[in-house]
Amino acid sequence: MHLKAIPSKSLKWFANHLFGAILGLSLAAIFAAWGAFFSSSAKRILGYAIQLLSTPPPLWATISLILLSALYTSLKIRQHQKSCNPPNIQEELREELGVYWNNQYKLRCLKCKWPLKCASKNFDSSTFWCSNCNNKHELRDKNGNHLTEAQAIEQLKKLPTSQ
Ligand SMILES: [Zn+2]
Repeated sequence: MHLKAIPSKSLKWFANHLFGAILGLSLAAIFAAWGAFFSSSAKRILGYAIQLLSTPPPLWATISLILLSALYTSLKIRQHQKSCNPPNIQEELREELGVYWNNQYKLRCLKCKWPLKCASKNFDSSTFWCSNCNNKHELRDKNGNHLTEAQAIEQLKKLPTSQ
């Protein structure tokens, strides 16, 4: 039953180390770029490089800060996408209209029982994604008509509760 906790922990570990790895890689890339810069050196280029190096540090600091904050932001967004709550195993779910529902009418993935998220604007409002296993789910009634979340809940409330 704790099987789910292990991947999410290792994911966090991975994310933390990934950040270090990205930092290391970008530093290595900068050094490599500098190496290439110097090795292809005509004296003119070298002179240019020295000139660049002697530019006030704020310029370099700004560039690296921007790069780092961009990296950090993208990592945070990724973490946020992955950090939705793991499924509550004790939660009672019922399968209706193409997804699982808990007793608060929240949508859950049929495969892994994680909370489902509304798909992007490119899809219609009956399409939902599982951020855990990346499966797509569509809300449809018995006749195959697309349903929005609100419509599905409305139908669900009319259905007999025992299953
Ligand atoms: Zn899933």
